[in-house]
Amino acid sequence: MTTLRTATQLCEHGLVPPARRQAIEKVAARYAVALPESLASLIDKNDPDDPIARQFVPDVAELDHRPEELMDPIGDEAHSPIEGIVHRYPDRVLLKLTHICRVYCRFCFRREMVGPGKPAGLSPAALAAALDYIRSRPQIWEVILTGGDPLILSPRRLRAAMKGLAAIDHVKVVRIHTRMPVAEPTRVTADLVRALKIKGKATYVAVHVNHPRELTAKARAACARLADAGIPLLSQTVLLAGVNDTPDAMDELMRALVECRIKPYYLHHGDLAPGTRHLRTDIATGQELMRRLRGRASGLCQPTYVLDIPGGHGKSPIGPSYVVRSEKAEAVVEDFNGVQHRYPAR
Ligand code: SF4
Repeated sequence: MTTLRTATQLCEHGLVPPARRQAIEKVAARYAVALPESLASLIDKNDPDDPIARQFVPDVAELDHRPEELMDPIGDEAHSPIEGIVHRYPDRVLLKLTHICRVYCRFCFRREMVGPGKPAGLSPAALAAALDYIRSRPQIWEVILTGGDPLILSPRRLRAAMKGLAAIDHVKVVRIHTRMPVAEPTRVTADLVRALKIKGKATYVAVHVNHPRELTAKARAACARLADAGIPLLSQTVLLAGVNDTPDAMDELMRALVECRIKPYYLHHGDLAPGTRHLRTDIATGQELMRRLRGRASGLCQPTYVLDIPGGHGKSPIGPSYVVRSEKAEAVVEDFNGVQHRYPAR
């Protein structure tokens, strides 16, 4: 499959006007670019605000770095005791197997760490050391494979990592975060799905999707292969200006996910990644979207709206509260229409 990686290729495909080629070359020199042709084909070239293009086609605004933006916005480094491991919460760790992705998202919170030229993925020795770290800490209940995109690895390498985790008794859950069902659905083969299933552990896959148009027939089929194999699917979505920050777009996306047997899990507030100001919304916008979603869609369609606190302090839910007042004698709770109701304290 052809992948667009340079400003010239983006120009040739009509995704960047020739007059902007040189400016986009500067962006591409700073941040990784990879856009599979199948994803590029979803872009409406006549729409200057196309939501797929906003996510994947580089923009000169990425060179506008704001003082509040951070090289490591969620503080991975501060919680990385050894290569490949981020240990922020007592009962779970991130295991970063690779720094490569199939597509590079323009808002990526790890954009300083992913892409060609960045540190390579875990060597066999580094993976063994990471597994030793997990093995020697019985409090680690869940391991989250992330990156980069772990599903860029061959089934053979994934199987080796999964087998390593399978051999650790206290690890009960393995969660894999990936963009692959959207970025290159045909890569989610029966062999790859088999590699993710390990005896005695629960494997979850969290699929990164931000706009309903990403869920093409092929992407849906890839998700179905995972779900049919008995792997529960979750979603992670990043709230992005001009992509999914309207009630209609969010409603359509969440319904489409549920129809694909993907339970909406997280709606991430945009992280303070460098050069991403043009894609971030404010928190009030996210809260209003969540309120509208609650009012119009099934409970199955409700993700948790979260913010990763800069510095590595973890995620906090930042959705709207429906408890207007909670006092000794009574509470006041708002319904989905905004009407307030009194409720006895106990
Ligand atoms: S797939 Fe994930 S890690 Fe890769 S560029 Fe997109 S957001 Fe970043």
